[in-house]
Amino acid sequence: MTTPLLELRDLHARADGVDILRGVDLVVGTGEVHALMGPNGAGKSTLANVIMGHPGYVITGGSLMFQGHDISSWTPDERARAGVFLAFQYPEAISGVSVVQFLRQAIAARKGLDELSILEVRLDLMEWMDRLGMDPAFAERHLNEGFSGGERKRNEVLQMALLAPALALLDETDSGLDIDALRIVARGVRTVRDEHPEMGVLVVTHYVKLLEEIEPDRVHVLIDGRIETSGDATLAQAIEERGYDELRPVSS
Ligand code: ADP
Ligand code: MG
Repeated sequence: MTTPLLELRDLHARADGVDILRGVDLVVGTGEVHALMGPNGAGKSTLANVIMGHPGYVITGGSLMFQGHDISSWTPDERARAGVFLAFQYPEAISGVSVVQFLRQAIAARKGLDELSILEVRLDLMEWMDRLGMDPAFAERHLNEGFSGGERKRNEVLQMALLAPALALLDETDSGLDIDALRIVARGVRTVRDEHPEMGVLVVTHYVKLLEEIEPDRVHVLIDGRIETSGDATLAQAIEERGYDELRPVSS
């Protein structure tokens, strides 16, 4: 048996003294795409943050393994260098830093280098922007400053392409993404996977349309901090038609 890329066993986590993840089991293999769905407040973003090592969340039980290593005590930086990537749900504008400057630092960090020449980054960047159908002028824009939803998504996909993570965690916003932005993500993920077929993806989303284009290997539904059910892509379809209610555990 090969070691899974990501393996969560009975994972519990809390923030601010509140239990949010209450026993998550999830295994993502190399090259697999998994979708995580679930109602608002279920703990989807928490799960992504816990995998990335966000300091606001504390693991209180279970295990978090990445490529066979228990990474639960690793810093976010160490996890990033090992190949875990999280696209933020609400990326912040960093004023005065351009897209290319940011990527230069991020790629250097991923590779464990102090610095990377602008030239080196630019070549790779131009190639990927071309492949993703992006305007080269985008590289000079200030990071997330006045980015439209679609531009933020493009930036996210561009980061993923250039950092070439082993595991990409994509946390989609709960509302306000138009169909074009969804297409950008779906197409971007497909393009990056063509180049890096070994990349695993965990995409958090409400959007069946996105999943129709990404074609996940597995779909999981997180409810109240637990994965209540998993299935193939048809599960997403069923949820779109019938909602989450019938998937909730019966409580007395
Ligand atoms: P989802 O992404 O599925 O909508 P979240 O993971 O954002 O859900 O949140 C799950 C629950 O945990 C919510 O009730 C939320 O208010 C709570 N929560 C998330 N982060 C924190 C935090 N840092 N401190 C306190 N409560 C939090
Ligand atoms: Mg969320």
